[in-house]
Amino acid sequence: MHELSLARSIMDIIEEYDLRHHFKKVNSLKLSFGKLSSVEPSALEFAFEVLSKGTKAEGASLEFEVLPVILYCTVCGENVSAEHYQATCPLCEGGEVCLAGGTEELKLLELDVD
Ligand SMILES: [Zn+2]
Repeated sequence: MHELSLARSIMDIIEEYDLRHHFKKVNSLKLSFGKLSSVEPSALEFAFEVLSKGTKAEGASLEFEVLPVILYCTVCGENVSAEHYQATCPLCEGGEVCLAGGTEELKLLELDVD
C-alpha cells in the first residue's frame, strides 16, 4: 500500500520536528497533494492512524488540501482549471495543452502541536 509509505514519511517529519521543538502532542496536520496524484485520503488517514498509535501524533486530525488540475494552453496562453486532464483546451479547443498543476506530491503544509 502506497499510502503506508506516505504515512511513514509524515511520521518521520513529525519525529524530526519533535527532536528540534519538543512538543507534547500533535493536534492536527494539514497536507496537500495534486488531484491527479494517486493519494487516497481515506487510505492515508487509516495508515496514519495505525502508524501514529502510541506516539505523540496519535489522535491528530488530518486536513487535506487537494490542488486542482491546471491545464496550460500554448495556443491561447491561458491556465485553465479542469476536472481531469484533457488533451484539448477547454477555452479554445486548441490541441497543445500541457499539465501545469494537479500532479503535486503529498506535502505537509502545517503541523499544529501543543
Ligand atoms: Zn486554449
